[in-house]
Amino acid sequence: MIVVVGKGIFGLSVAEFLSRQRQNKIVVLASDEHVPASRAAAANLSTKSQVFARDPHFELKISGKKNYPEWLKSLCHESAAFSLGELKSSFVSSRGRDLFSSVELADRQWNRVVQPKSEISARGLPEQSVVRVGSQEIEYGDEAWVDASFLLNLLESVCRSRGVEFRICDIANLANLEAECVDAQSLILCTGSQTPRILQAWNLSELPPSLGKSQRWSYGGTLAIDIPGWQMPDGISLLEYVSAEALEKVTFSGTHGKLYCSSVSVSCADKHHQNQPAEPDFFKIEAQQRSLISTLHKIFKIKLDLHEHHWRWGVRLGYGHRELVVEALPHTFSFLKGPLVVAAGAHKSGFLFAPEIGSLVGQKLQA
Ligand SMILES: Cc1cc2nc3c(=O)[nH]c(=O)nc-3n(C[C@H](O)[C@H](O)[C@H](O)COP(=O)(O)OP(=O)(O)OC[C@H]3O[C@@H](n4cnc5c(N)ncnc54)[C@H](O)[C@@H]3O)c2cc1C
Repeated sequence: MIVVVGKGIFGLSVAEFLSRQRQNKIVVLASDEHVPASRAAAANLSTKSQVFARDPHFELKISGKKNYPEWLKSLCHESAAFSLGELKSSFVSSRGRDLFSSVELADRQWNRVVQPKSEISARGLPEQSVVRVGSQEIEYGDEAWVDASFLLNLLESVCRSRGVEFRICDIANLANLEAECVDAQSLILCTGSQTPRILQAWNLSELPPSLGKSQRWSYGGTLAIDIPGWQMPDGISLLEYVSAEALEKVTFSGTHGKLYCSSVSVSCADKHHQNQPAEPDFFKIEAQQRSLISTLHKIFKIKLDLHEHHWRWGVRLGYGHRELVVEALPHTFSFLKGPLVVAAGAHKSGFLFAPEIGSLVGQKLQA
């Protein structure tokens, strides 16, 4: 039996990968107290900033993005509950556009992102990866978006149809974990920002250095908006408006009838080294919300009431500049016969890693 903890994008993607062969019994445990951050994500599959940055996960993200269409198609084929028709409105792969409030800002960004052709092809990217369009716009050739709820529900439905069991359990309490892990060969922890708190509660003596790197907590919000008569420009799946004032950086994603706007993100400190974030500064959050409303009005002529639309909130945790930690941890649990693997740290791009994370965890289980 393999036990996966977590029903966010990591836990479900790992359970989906491991259940493909139907060789092992798989149980997914999740606490109903901790809502997955994955449910708050706009689920933009954006790699534009990595085109020019030295990102250690660059190849993985690009390969995740490439594999998305086939992965989603095969899941929809397998699921009785989701159709290919629904997929059309739940995954879009097209261009991304940055819109700047001034030519000077656009110039500055262009100088940062423009790449020689040789560099673009050395990275295996399409020639039109970064293009200047007019004086205040830059376009990125290969951006995408997936509907987070659709994907999470699809993954759960496919897992259930393959016999994966789902149970509610708070595993920070070791007695609960032990009761659920009788006969477990492997335990995979996909508990997102709760991971350090859980490991601390278990009193594990040795933690990998990657999990000890400076913890970066943030609290973020995505706004699900439905604006009659307004839609994303044709052929664009991600649209970002950037102005000189840092508060006015707004990203739209999605498609007709499913539009998301992500702009609220406030960092919060570790609560006195207790491995949980301090309360975010609610004044800052409200200031960002108001700024968003005023930007939407000023730039896109969209009139919104702050409280009328649906916000999704979540906590993220990253470790230093790493966005992904997949490690086997030493343990002395007598109830666990095999490895304990942790897959966490995706504070920004968890959805980009989704098609790849199962095989990364699989490699750790076999090592
Ligand atoms: C506002 C916001 C916007 C974002 N936008 C994007 C985006 O556009 N694109 C992108 O790729 N990423 C985005 N992210 C980041 C993305 O949400 C994360 O990378 C991703 O959710 C991490 O998934 P996870 O499965 O590791 O953790 P989570 O989704 O947090 O799942 C953790 C799971 O562990 C379970 N759990 C926790 N503690 C316990 C316990 N004690 N016992 C049992 N179960 C437990 C929880 O119940 C949950 O099921 C965004 C995040 C936020 C907050």
